[in-house]
Amino acid sequence: MSRPRTPLSERFWTRVDFEGGNGCWLWTGRISEKGYGRVWVRDEGTKTILVRAHRWIYEFCIGPISEGMQIDHLCCTPACVNPDHLEAVTPRENTIRGRGPGLLRQRQRAHIAIADAARTLISSGYSAKSRRALENSVKMLL
Ligand SMILES: [Zn+2]
Repeated sequence: MSRPRTPLSERFWTRVDFEGGNGCWLWTGRISEKGYGRVWVRDEGTKTILVRAHRWIYEFCIGPISEGMQIDHLCCTPACVNPDHLEAVTPRENTIRGRGPGLLRQRQRAHIAIADAARTLISSGYSAKSRRALENSVKMLL
């Protein structure tokens, strides 16, 4: 007897602490030696692979990460999975850039809306209505 698995796009939020300070969303699941959140992802239903949680959320909320690009934490907090704190950069930029706080406030309203929608999603038992609300709040980032 197999029951349908809750997709990662819904399970993910149960592992996030939205009250991480500085607007950070801290990953509360598995953490790598370097401090990055890690999450198991089912690949096309065949195998399961371990990926960095911040890369997963970046692709979920913002879009595919081009080959060779790195995801920089603007907040310098490796365990943070707030898409607003993440930016795709070349490895060179990632090394030389100064990390200013200026970008953090830009889309604050959107990430508050996502946090609220994700909480509602979980507390409602993943109702269709709250799922749509989450999808709509994610679109505010686009
Ligand atoms: Zn952060």
